[in-house]
Amino acid sequence: MSARAGIIVTGTEVLTGRVQDRNGPWLADQLLELGVELAHITICGDRPRDITAQLRFLADEGVDLIVTSGGLGPTADDLTVATVAEFCGRELALDVAMEERIAAILRRLIGDRPGVDFDAVRAANRKQAMVPVGAEVLAPVGTAPGVVVGGDGPTIVVLPGPPRELQPMWHTAVATEAVQQAISGRTQYRQEMLRMFGLAESGLAETLREAEGAIAGFDALEITTCLRRGELEIVTRYEPDAADAYRDLVTLLRDRHGATLYSEDGTTVDEQVAGLLAGHRIATAESCTAGLLAARLADIPGCSDYFAGGVVSYSNEAKAEMLNVDPVLIAECGAVSEPVVESMVNGALYHFGADTAVAISGIAGPDGGSPEKPVGTVCFAVRAGSVAITRTLLLPGNRSDIRERATTVAMHLLRRALTGVGD
Ligand code: ATP
Ligand code: MG
Repeated sequence: MSARAGIIVTGTEVLTGRVQDRNGPWLADQLLELGVELAHITICGDRPRDITAQLRFLADEGVDLIVTSGGLGPTADDLTVATVAEFCGRELALDVAMEERIAAILRRLIGDRPGVDFDAVRAANRKQAMVPVGAEVLAPVGTAPGVVVGGDGPTIVVLPGPPRELQPMWHTAVATEAVQQAISGRTQYRQEMLRMFGLAESGLAETLREAEGAIAGFDALEITTCLRRGELEIVTRYEPDAADAYRDLVTLLRDRHGATLYSEDGTTVDEQVAGLLAGHRIATAESCTAGLLAARLADIPGCSDYFAGGVVSYSNEAKAEMLNVDPVLIAECGAVSEPVVESMVNGALYHFGADTAVAISGIAGPDGGSPEKPVGTVCFAVRAGSVAITRTLLLPGNRSDIRERATTVAMHLLRRALTGVGD
C-alpha cells in the first residue's frame, strides 16, 4: 500500500518566472513528512483550460490526492475553485455563513477608510464564498477560504497562492476526513542526508554500483545524489525495516571515501565550523572572493561571538596597507601566490587580534590568467592557533562558480584546521 499525490501550482506570475514558486517545494516537504509519495509538481497559468488539463493528467495517473495552489482571490482571473468544481461535476453554491465571515474580515481590514464602497467590495468577495456542493470549506487565513473536494476520484485540496496563507491552511486540510482517507495507504519513511566534499560524482556512482551487489536489501533504499556548491549531497529515503541496509551503505562510503564523507547527520560545513569556532576569534582576508567568505561566516547564527571582521583587498596597495603584505613579496611572487596569502593571513590575525584566520587570493577571470597561473588558480592560507594549511587549487567554471567554489573550499580547510589537521 502507498499513497501518491500530485501538486498543481497555478498562476501566470509563477509560470512566467516573475514569482519563484515556494508552494511546490514546501508542500513536497510536507507530503514527504506525512509519508505520501509525490509523483508530480506541475505549474500552469491561470487559464481554466490549463488547470483542467493538469487535473485530468494527475487523475489519469491514478494519484490519491491533488493539491492546488493559487487562484482563490476575488478577481476575475482567480478561477481555481470553479474549475475544480466543474472537473468534479459539482455545482457551486453560495455558503452564506462563509460570506458573512469574509464580510467581517473585510470590514476589519477596510474599516471606515474614506472613498471605499463597502458594498462593491463585498460583492466582489461573494465569489470567494461560492463553494462546490458537498465540499469541505477551510476557514480563510487571508480572505479566501480553501476547499477539500472528496468523492470518487482523487481528493482535491484547493489552497490559496500566498505562502503565508497556504501554509496554515494546509495543516487544516490534512486533518479533514477526505484527506485522511486519501492518504490512508501512506508509509512512514525515514530520510537521511550525507554530505561529501572532494569526491567526484563519478567516484560516488562507482561506489553505489558496488553497494548494489554488496549490500543486502540495497534495493529498498531510494538514493538521490545532488551536486551543490561543489559538495555532494546524498539523500536516502527508506522504510524503517531497511535501516540495516542504510547503515551498511554508510559504512561502505566511510570505508571507500574516508574523510571526504564529512557529515553523516546532514549538518553543513557551515554548521560544523560554527560549532568548532566556539571560543575562537576569526578574521578573513579576501581578494578574488570579494567578501563572500565573510558573508558566509556572518550568516552563521551567533557569529558575532567569534567573527572579528574581514578585509577585501583587491589592489596590491590595499594588501600592503591593510594587511602588511610586503610589496617586494608581491612583485617577486605575484599577488596570487602562496607566500602572499600566507602574509595576508598573518596580517588578518594581527589587525583583528584574532587566533584564527583565512586568506584567499585567486584569479577568478575572465582575464588575468597566464600560462603558469590560469583562470581558476586560487591560493588559500588558514591558521587556527598553531595549525597551518596552505593550498593552491585550480577551480573550474566561470567567475561566479570559481568564487563560490573557493568560498566552499575555504570553509572546508577552516574546518580541517579547527579540528587540528594541518599540512
Ligand atoms: P489573492 O487573493 O492574493 O489573489 P490567490 O489565492 O488568488 O490570492 P494568486 O492570485 O495565485 O493567489 O497569488 C497571489 C500572490 O501570492 C502572487 O502574486 C504571489 O505573490 C503569491 N504566490 C502565489 N503563488 C505562489 C507560489 N507558488 N509561490 C510563491 N508565491 C506565490
Ligand atoms: Mg489572485
